[in-house]
Amino acid sequence: MPKGFLLVVSGPSGCGKGTICNKLLQRNKDLVFSVSATTRRPRNGEKEGINYFFIDDKRFKKMIGNNEFIEYAKVHKNYYGTPKNFVLNEINKGKIVILEIDVQGALQVKKAYSEAILVFLLPPSMSELKKRLTKRGTETEEDINIRYQNAFEELKFIKKYEYFVINDKVIEAVEKVEAVITAEKLKVKRHKNILEKIIF
Ligand code: 5GP
Repeated sequence: MPKGFLLVVSGPSGCGKGTICNKLLQRNKDLVFSVSATTRRPRNGEKEGINYFFIDDKRFKKMIGNNEFIEYAKVHKNYYGTPKNFVLNEINKGKIVILEIDVQGALQVKKAYSEAILVFLLPPSMSELKKRLTKRGTETEEDINIRYQNAFEELKFIKKYEYFVINDKVIEAVEKVEAVITAEKLKVKRHKNILEKIIF
């Protein structure tokens, strides 16, 4: 079985990363989600170990010191990091590991794992992004404004990504990411023994 790979999904807060990733996970059994650690407080309905590992600053710093993260970054006002062991184990099992992380983290991942695939999710427009952020109702007005302003900075990083997908209709966006995954799975370099199967 070929090794798995990392699929990094980034995009401004409110563009629908969570929805797209959930649908991808429901539809594709060879995908797993990398649950990040964060110092952010849980939102209503968020579950420990499902959405995030919610930890305090002290524990986060300890994890940094122990080299337990593939990448970490301060995003908006809090720290977020991708636990290393889980991700590497899953790749060795042949899984495609989804990292739903910000642009700073994505670049760190690409530097360390050049074969990671970077997908940038875009809203159909900035006014639609503002609407989605407000409608979500999970942040204060101040937080919404921080996230909206940060979006403009994040968009500048799209040049570093291999693919973009505009999230207008969810199902269409999901299918586009699946097309990226399918293409990646079919890369010859991922199937060193392909001819053995055909010839013998
Ligand atoms: P939220 O607070 O809305 O869940 O996430 C805020 C931002 O942090 C999003 O852009 C999300 O993709 C990003 N994020 C979540 N987990 C990680 C992580 O482990 N590392 C990095 N660098 N960013 C993350």
